[in-house]
Amino acid sequence: MHPIVLTMLKTLPHKDVVLLGIGHTNAHLLRMWRMHPPRGARLTCISDEPVATYSGMLPGVLAAQYPPERMEIDLARLTAAAGARLVIGGVTGLDLEARTLIFDDRLPLRFNVLSIGIGSMPAFDGVRVGDGARLLQIKPMQRFFARLDERLRRALADRADAAIRIAIVGGGAGGVEVALCLPAHLKRRLGRDVRFDLTVVTADERLPTGSLPQTARRVERILTGRSARLLKGRRVVEVEGPVLSLDDGTVVEADVIVWATAAAPPPLLARLGLPTDARGFLLTHDTLQTTSGAPVFAVGDTGTIAGASTPKAGVYAVRQGPVLWDNIQRTLSAAPLRRYAPQRKFLRLLNTGDGRAIGEWRGWSFEGAWVWRLKDAIDTRFMEQYQAR
Ligand SMILES: Cc1cc2nc3c(=O)[nH]c(=O)nc-3n(C[C@H](O)[C@H](O)[C@H](O)COP(=O)(O)OP(=O)(O)OC[C@H]3O[C@@H](n4cnc5c(N)ncnc54)[C@H](O)[C@@H]3O)c2cc1C
Repeated sequence: MHPIVLTMLKTLPHKDVVLLGIGHTNAHLLRMWRMHPPRGARLTCISDEPVATYSGMLPGVLAAQYPPERMEIDLARLTAAAGARLVIGGVTGLDLEARTLIFDDRLPLRFNVLSIGIGSMPAFDGVRVGDGARLLQIKPMQRFFARLDERLRRALADRADAAIRIAIVGGGAGGVEVALCLPAHLKRRLGRDVRFDLTVVTADERLPTGSLPQTARRVERILTGRSARLLKGRRVVEVEGPVLSLDDGTVVEADVIVWATAAAPPPLLARLGLPTDARGFLLTHDTLQTTSGAPVFAVGDTGTIAGASTPKAGVYAVRQGPVLWDNIQRTLSAAPLRRYAPQRKFLRLLNTGDGRAIGEWRGWSFEGAWVWRLKDAIDTRFMEQYQAR
């Protein structure tokens, strides 16, 4: 072979790394690739949307503290800067033997290493949904505000002069922050005099789930101080139009039902033919590699480490980023993989929508304008890594 052809062949990428879903963990890999592209490898990113969103700032957008673009990552720009390909498309399956991802609208895509991080959906376990027209899921977050405003517009038309009834189902960090920040959005969109009733339904006794008792007291004080009705220790068992039936016989009527329950697996995961946990999330070793034995990783909410009880939360997805980056490089060079150890404690910060926030850290609960400034600084710094030009 001619020496020039030989040199060209040597420098051409011969390993394909593919990221399916650009959430908190895979986005870190993309950022690192931009700074240190591995030799001889090509990166392809697949997303269902042209932008990725950061849930930590969604409540701030809701409270009009940020414009929507502050929570968005422009994937075309980020992939271009990293020299990666971006595919906006619908993956429908995985051929593990052929090492290809299958699409409904394009040719299969080959990979040598794959990382799947498509997040999660809110759970509907044990809930009968008849007429679900008033249901509003937060995900996909990219279109949450358009869907919310459309639902509010209809509610306003239906209710004439009566108060708009809003129910938030789910008392995790997401549901609580939406409950705290939604009033500011309603006033901005529908006028300062808008009348609304807010009800929060949670299966747990504490708001947010798993928080310290002092934190829950702070959250409940603020919500009840804003006239919200809190229905704790109860589950919604049926949704029929505006009627929510709870397991204790309580009936709640709502024009807008924000569904923010615990994480459930996106339906695509069941079609990939990979090992799953009992709920349907992809089962991994503590290296984040799936237990399939193939060079396929599952990260963020999408993966469950066998034997670990790590909650589905963004803070864990973020910390997995450096381990994934390391392990993908190790896979490319056939080196042993590194283990990921989930952090035991993390700083929890809740935006209260009024220039203040509630926080907890290692058994301490605190609150104030300085907590909001801390949250703003952390989130802004995080997003600057992905938005810097
Ligand atoms: C309002 C709100 C507030 C929250 N606050 C906190 C908090 O304070 N702290 C915390 O730890 N957690 C919080 N969470 C939970 C946190 O958002 C999730 O745990 C986190 O987003 C999980 O990250 P991920 O990367 O796994 O998934 P995601 O961030 O959901 O990213 C998945 C990506 O994959 C894309 N995708 C989905 N399906 C496909 C597909 N089929 N093909 C291609 N791409 C696809 C999505 O568009 C998305 O960009 C909050 C959630 C909400 C809704």
